[in-house]
Amino acid sequence: MIVESAKLLADRHMAPYFKEMDEKKAEYDGHGGVKTHPQLKIIIHEAAQQGWISGASSFELGGLQLPMMIFNSGQHIFQAANNGCQGYFSLTTGSAALITSFGNHQQIEMFVPKMFGGEWQGTMALTEPQAGSSLTDITTSASLREDGMYSITGQKIFISGGQHEACNNFVHLTLARIKGAPAGVKGISLFIIPKFWPQADGSLVANDVFCAGDFQKMGQRGYCTTHLVFGEQNNCKGWLVGEPNKGLTYMFQMMNEARISVGLSAASVAMAAYQASLQYASERPQGRLASEKDPLKPPTLIINHPDVQRMLLTQKAIVEGALSLVMECNRLTDNMHVAEGEEKHTNWLLLEILTPIVKTYAAEQGSRSAALAIQTLGGYGFTMDFPVQQHYRDLKIMSLYEGTTGIQSLDLLGRKVTMEKGKALTELIRTIEDCIRQADTYGSLQPFAKALKVELERVQAVTSHLTALMGSGDIDRSLADAAVYMELLSYGVIGWQWLKQATVAYTQLQSSNFTNQTREFYEGKVHTMKFFFRYELPHAEACAKTILNPEFLTNLRKREVLA
Ligand SMILES: Cc1cc2nc3c(=O)[nH]c(=O)nc-3n(C[C@H](O)[C@H](O)[C@H](O)COP(=O)(O)OP(=O)(O)OC[C@H]3O[C@@H](n4cnc5c(N)ncnc54)[C@H](O)[C@@H]3O)c2cc1C
Repeated sequence: MIVESAKLLADRHMAPYFKEMDEKKAEYDGHGGVKTHPQLKIIIHEAAQQGWISGASSFELGGLQLPMMIFNSGQHIFQAANNGCQGYFSLTTGSAALITSFGNHQQIEMFVPKMFGGEWQGTMALTEPQAGSSLTDITTSASLREDGMYSITGQKIFISGGQHEACNNFVHLTLARIKGAPAGVKGISLFIIPKFWPQADGSLVANDVFCAGDFQKMGQRGYCTTHLVFGEQNNCKGWLVGEPNKGLTYMFQMMNEARISVGLSAASVAMAAYQASLQYASERPQGRLASEKDPLKPPTLIINHPDVQRMLLTQKAIVEGALSLVMECNRLTDNMHVAEGEEKHTNWLLLEILTPIVKTYAAEQGSRSAALAIQTLGGYGFTMDFPVQQHYRDLKIMSLYEGTTGIQSLDLLGRKVTMEKGKALTELIRTIEDCIRQADTYGSLQPFAKALKVELERVQAVTSHLTALMGSGDIDRSLADAAVYMELLSYGVIGWQWLKQATVAYTQLQSSNFTNQTREFYEGKVHTMKFFFRYELPHAEACAKTILNPEFLTNLRKREVLA
């Protein structure tokens, strides 16, 4: 019922405005305001009313305590329908969660109900002109006032949803450095900086927060990306969240969830592009099969050409593989709430190692998938008359924000793989081995179970090679190919998701249990798994060869780049 209600909301209020919100993009008015599409107000209001901002939070806070798997199934539909508008309200969900986790009672009471009601927009304000990937270099500063609040000065750029017409207040969860705090990430604190301070009588008093511009972008053009200036009049008041100097740790809670959300977003947009290209291929006649020699025969539909089938199946393998991994992460998040002790810790370890992978695989391969959607349409795909070019443009940001692919790869190899003496990777491999054992009980799945086992051995060999390099102190060299390592591990992880789906599908096919889905649906899963193993998984071997090539030296690479 809940997922069905998401579809109704998306069909009625979001999908019809997908193209229009791109054409009538968000734009700065020159005076601190950002003009947005009028439909945005309706979308945020409806999403709030139907529980799509607060849905995953507790009953006490007005939420529905929805499991993340259900909550994000709805978000998947919104993202596929119109990803730019979904960003506004999911950002509020994330910032409200940050306040409820680390804020005090007064902060929760003052901000969260209005945020959940969709009246106030939440944002996350980290990036500064000189501090993008490197948050160590944040300079926005905070000094303690007599009333216990902080005076804030500085500026933040690229702040999504930072100013627009659909909400009447903005709650900026901002990273800043308290004067005298230690250098580096250990001296960063988290502040609530609202655009307007709510008063006891319900009125709003302006804070010294100014929107100085809105970045114009290649995609997500209805979703504003603002430049914020704090304390231009020396009168910007911020409220410390939690303890001083713990800001980045708090922010990481939101960022980890946000990274899984970006993975979801990328998989959803790529899914929309895939569906559009599948429909087009089923309707467009062009040419004849190579075996057809009679030029007078009517042209065949392009879906009958083997190369178009390859492009469609590649997209299906990527988007359904990525979506499956997103749901795996949501399942682990849900389990974290109920599990205890060792089981909870294992869940956490798995989430830690899968988070950079789900974000990066969905973003990078999702872009490739959307490019294939354009390719499937031929020249029409490149025109503004069809939606696939917009999906492609909207998708590109996913490999950039919430940590670029380069940064995610460093996080995976430099931190997640080595954490707790390699325990996260060991747990991941153990979990995949469980799946392999299950698949191995079905004769026709055995070749794929075996192929995945080989893949795991390859990952282990490459990991040992790289960790030995790290151990020898050659850190730059060992992390230089982190992005290739990311690709290698991603193929194995998505291979696991496909084998898992195919095992379930195979079980259903064997028992002829078609109460939830059709026979074709399950057959489609098994076929796509086979396709993934034949066309995608072999790329992993090339990644391993690249990393293990003894000739590679980082300083050589720099010389090559500059030559
Ligand atoms: C549309 C949009 C919306 C955004 N929304 C928000 C938001 O709401 N809030 C917010 O705070 N920020 C937001 N951002 C900022 C975004 O998170 C940053 O753009 C991103 O973190 C990268 O920072 P940068 O652009 O400064 O690139 P840089 O950090 O300059 O990176 C440039 C390149 O160098 C690479 N690189 C940098 N450092 C390293 C390293 N140590 N090792 C290897 N490679 C490295 C990167 O991978 C990248 O390829 C948004 C950005 C955009 C474009």
